Amino acid sequence: MINGHDVGRMPFRTYVIDKAAMIRNIIEDAINGGAKVRFGVTAIKCAVKGDGYECLVHDRDGGEYVINARALIGADAYPSIVDLSLGVTKGFKAEDLIIATSARARGGSTWMMRR
Ligand SMILES: Cc1cc2nc3c(=O)[nH]c(=O)nc-3n(C[C@H](O)[C@H](O)[C@H](O)COP(=O)(O)OP(=O)(O)OC[C@H]3O[C@@H](n4cnc5c(N)ncnc54)[C@H](O)[C@@H]3O)c2cc1C
Repeated sequence: MINGHDVGRMPFRTYVIDKAAMIRNIIEDAINGGAKVRFGVTAIKCAVKGDGYECLVHDRDGGEYVINARALIGADAYPSIVDLSLGVTKGFKAEDLIIATSARARGGSTWMMRR
C-alpha cells in the first residue's frame, strides 16, 4: 500500500528484513569467529597464493596494500573482482544478464505482510 492505494499483491508469503541489522550480525559473528574486519577497503586484484589467497586492496585514504587470507569469499557483486581475478565463472554471456531499473516515489507508505 502506498498513500492508501493498493499498488500490487504477491501470490506468495513475503518477509521484510532489516538488512543493516542482518549485515551487522554477520560481521559480529565473523569477528567472534576470529576474522579481522576492515571497512572502506576495495579489492583491486586477487590471486591464489600458496594454500590461500592474496588481494591487492586500496583503502579510503588512498593507501594500497596486500591482504593475505586463508579463505576468500567473492561477495563483491557484479562485476566481481574476485570472480574476474580468479576466473570463477569465466564471465557472463549476454543471455545471462537482465536489465533492471528501480524508482523511488515520494509519500507515506505502509508495509503489508500477508500470511
Ligand atoms: C534499489 C534496490 C532495491 C532492492 N530491493 C530488494 C528487496 O526489496 N528485496 C530483496 O530481496 N532484494 C532487493 N534488492 C536486491 C538486493 O539488494 C541484492 O540482491 C543483494 O543486495 C545482493 O547482495 P550481495 O551481497 O550479493 O551484493 P551487494 O549487496 O551489492 O554487496 C556487495 C558489496 O561488495 C562491495 N564491493 C563491490 N566491489 C568491491 C571490491 N572490489 N572490493 C571490496 N568490496 C566491494 C560493495 O560496496 C557492496 O557493499 C534490491 C536492490 C536494489 C538496487
